[in-house]
Amino acid sequence: MSEEIKASEKVHCLIIGSGPAGYTAAIYAARANLKPVLYQGIQPGGQLTITTEVENYPGYADGVQGPEMMIDFEKQAKRMGADIRYGIATKVDFSGFPHKVWIDDEVLIEADSVIISTGASAKWLGLPSEEKYNGFGVSACAVCDGFFFKGKEVAIVGAGDTAAEEALYLSKLCSTVHMIIRRDEMRASKVMQERVMKTPNIIMHFNHETEEVLGDGQKVNAVRIFNNKTGEKTEISVSGFFIAIGHQPNSDIFKGFVEMDETGYIQTIPGTSKTNVEGVFAAGDVQDKTYRQAVTAAGSGCIAALDAERYLSAKGL
Ligand code: NDP
Repeated sequence: MSEEIKASEKVHCLIIGSGPAGYTAAIYAARANLKPVLYQGIQPGGQLTITTEVENYPGYADGVQGPEMMIDFEKQAKRMGADIRYGIATKVDFSGFPHKVWIDDEVLIEADSVIISTGASAKWLGLPSEEKYNGFGVSACAVCDGFFFKGKEVAIVGAGDTAAEEALYLSKLCSTVHMIIRRDEMRASKVMQERVMKTPNIIMHFNHETEEVLGDGQKVNAVRIFNNKTGEKTEISVSGFFIAIGHQPNSDIFKGFVEMDETGYIQTIPGTSKTNVEGVFAAGDVQDKTYRQAVTAAGSGCIAALDAERYLSAKGL
């Protein structure tokens, strides 16, 4: 690896990832004079750049488009003096001090403190029609987009706690919610299963998978599902098609250094952003599988910057 390194640099506070958590950490760290350097990662702005309107982020009284909001976050971080850069963290070594992070396999950053805010990615079914209508009826976030289907018929794929929770959320807004479940039982906890079963406007389609999301070229108007036992196909008219088959935290490169749960979410000391590695903090969806909201991610980014500041000052760095 060392012969491929084109440059190296020492930084005080390195932030990896550019969603609400990373940018908020950058704003706070810059104001605390930590001279943060933030690498934006594969998807600058994170998951919000693939949503449409955001109506539940406080401060935007009239709502805002997700991509526009992330541009605002970036501008604010830059205005505070954060050094925002393109680049993907490809490898880390947290075994000693300073911590080492390689960017695009060719730049070595040595950092006194590191804030991991690499987020999580929604899993998708992988159908071309799902991709075609993403943002035009297809969504991986009921809390973000459910409101746009008020009074309408929708479908949701998945049978875990997230799917159950989102189906219940949608059932309060939409006329009918079709749950498409690939097995003959749900994975969700018993209590969530019971709540779903007791909700009259949730219709369960067990042993069903999605064949295609259908639309008029502009937006979704139906979904074709099939019974994986009998092969029988059914078309359901829906305006919204939600996917809730799990998220994948973007934490692969930290494996072996930072403690994670069995699904790859980074574990932090409760009430803080501290990981098991001194000087390494985690914020946002990479360490949160429960709330996953822009505002909670931003809040945890603030916590991470404050934790980093206190750590650096206690170390005299
Ligand atoms: P899970 O991995 O628990 O569930 C994913 C669901 O999606 C499963 O039902 C799975 O089906 C289904 N699925 C996966 N791939 C496909 C596919 N290609 N086609 C159709 N269906 C598919 O993810 P969740 O996001 O629901 O939950 C993640 C973790 O977070 C869990 O531990 C959960 O308990 C926790 N959680 C807790 C909450 C709470 O306590 N309030 C709220 C939300 C999540 P199958 O069952 O057949 O594998």
